Amino acid sequence: MSQTAPLRAGGWNVEVRIANPPPALLVKYTNKEKTFFFDYANFVIQIIRDPSVAEKLGQIFTAEQVNTDRPVDIRVMVFPARPLRGRSNRVLHGSYRHSAAQISLYPLKLSRDWIRNGFDLFKAPYNELAPREKRLIYEMAETAIATFVHEVLHVKFERRGMAAYVEESLVRKLESHYMEGWEETIAQAVHDASLNRTS
Ligand SMILES: [Zn+2]
Repeated sequence: MSQTAPLRAGGWNVEVRIANPPPALLVKYTNKEKTFFFDYANFVIQIIRDPSVAEKLGQIFTAEQVNTDRPVDIRVMVFPARPLRGRSNRVLHGSYRHSAAQISLYPLKLSRDWIRNGFDLFKAPYNELAPREKRLIYEMAETAIATFVHEVLHVKFERRGMAAYVEESLVRKLESHYMEGWEETIAQAVHDASLNRTS
């Protein structure tokens, strides 16, 4: 039937890893910022690997018949991407590099205030977070999942030879379709992640 490849309809064998930030980037952040963003990246890994999240992602890939003939490297970036050129209010959340078969997931761009005072976000149990902290950590999980789905759909369509803007609008439409009905799964995964801290 299908080849053994990291993205396979009907099976979950996706490996997600944290990308090692280059030293030149690391020196631009304070220790506090580094701690915050490494905790964030570990949180994203926990969310993607959460069994209920993984099951739902597997269902989407099955429905979409996502099959790749080569391994896809899925990496969680520690630091936010720079704003897209000429659009300072829009920030890249993910990318798929066809030539390298590599998906990159980026953290949300946050205000310095969050990074300075958001220490508890990844340390305290979910139930002890303030409502706005709960909303943010939910949004972090939801964005990571939505971005993952989005980029995997690009992997699916890469060989169709569509114009880039046609592919992008199709991928966005499918992404919003598949991101319906995730509320309970995400809330539970965020809650569970707070109980299973590794750090
Ligand atoms: Zn896209």
